[in-house]
Amino acid sequence: MKKSMIFVTILIIIITTLLSCNNKGNKENENIIQEEIFALGTIIEFKIYDEDSKKAKKAIDESIWRIREIEEKMTINKEKSEVISINQNAGIDFVNVSPDTFFVIQKSSEYSKLSEGAFDLTVEPLVKLWGIGTKDARIPKKEEIDSLLSLINYEDLLLDEKNLSVKLRNKGQAIDLGAIAKGYAGDEVKRILTNNGIDTAFVNLGGNVVTIGTKLDGSPWRIGIQNPLDERGSHLAIIEIKDRAVVTSGNYERYFIEDGKKYHHIMNPKTGYPAEEGIISSTIVSDSSIDADALSTSLYVMGLEKGLSLIEKMENVEAVIITDDNKVYITAGLKDSFKLTNPKFDLIEKNN
Ligand code: FAD
Ligand code: MG
Repeated sequence: MKKSMIFVTILIIIITTLLSCNNKGNKENENIIQEEIFALGTIIEFKIYDEDSKKAKKAIDESIWRIREIEEKMTINKEKSEVISINQNAGIDFVNVSPDTFFVIQKSSEYSKLSEGAFDLTVEPLVKLWGIGTKDARIPKKEEIDSLLSLINYEDLLLDEKNLSVKLRNKGQAIDLGAIAKGYAGDEVKRILTNNGIDTAFVNLGGNVVTIGTKLDGSPWRIGIQNPLDERGSHLAIIEIKDRAVVTSGNYERYFIEDGKKYHHIMNPKTGYPAEEGIISSTIVSDSSIDADALSTSLYVMGLEKGLSLIEKMENVEAVIITDDNKVYITAGLKDSFKLTNPKFDLIEKNN
């Protein structure tokens, strides 16, 4: 063996030994199985804590398969899907869909009503016109926006529950499940992992976090809330949760800036422009990820007062709202589990 090779071999042994010493006694690092995939237009990160890595791997594989299945059914970014068929048949006919797609559309419809149209799944023509997050993003002319506003109306969505079929009343109308389908995928991943006997897991579906149990030492998961004014990965607060979902909608991931103004991807269906109700980030903590996803988008559009009064009516749902005047509002249920870490923001605790 050459001298240099011997040196490299010794070095590798030393590093490996150091690493294993470092991990000694750290149960968490020994039992963690991690995987990252790209799906639903975002990065999905799995962290499963289990001694049986085979079992964990199987649970992750099943989850990935399910995520891809949901994407195939609900995407509007591919050649075909069930949602694309509904859009192509707008004003023409009912389309039969799978129980998955029907469930997510039904939930979207419920949240459209509950938020009085702040959340509106028929927002797709506006999303397409603005193209935010795509290479075609631009500020449309006011006339272009106004000409589409009459198409945006969740009440034109006709649901036939008996036959699992869906129709949009008028030609030109279209639905987009981008504000809710990731949430559904989160709930499905949690169900699959649990069915596979996983008791400890953290999964992040591009800002939709689902957790199972607590960390291995019994302490809660610590979820960082992104500072919307700073670079990615910079937190302004930490929420501690056990077994719950945390979903954030913000203006800092999909946007473009023109003449110093930010245009982001969450639309106000009434104006046709990106929502500007004073919120720059809204986070929901809830048992269900689909509810949290729908509500985080709803709140962003509803604004602080209306948004908080909606959350206060709901059980087991909490919110963190960051406004454009650097204030962080939290609902009463988060009092003991929320910690502001950035002194540039003021914390305001609401009493339910
Ligand atoms: P959220 O606040 O949860 O949702 C915002 C999104 O909802 C907007 O982007 C818009 O689509 C829609 N929306 C805007 N305003 C409203 C409103 N008022 N009411 C209801 N809905 C509204 N992205 C890609 O770039 N490429 C892909 O191939 C791709 N495929 C996807 C497939 C599926 C099945 C899904 C669910 C999403 C896909 N995405 C894709 C979208 C991408 O992941 C989005 O960033 C994501 O859906 C937006 O989620 P969010 O958490 O950032 O924001
Ligand atoms: Mg959402």
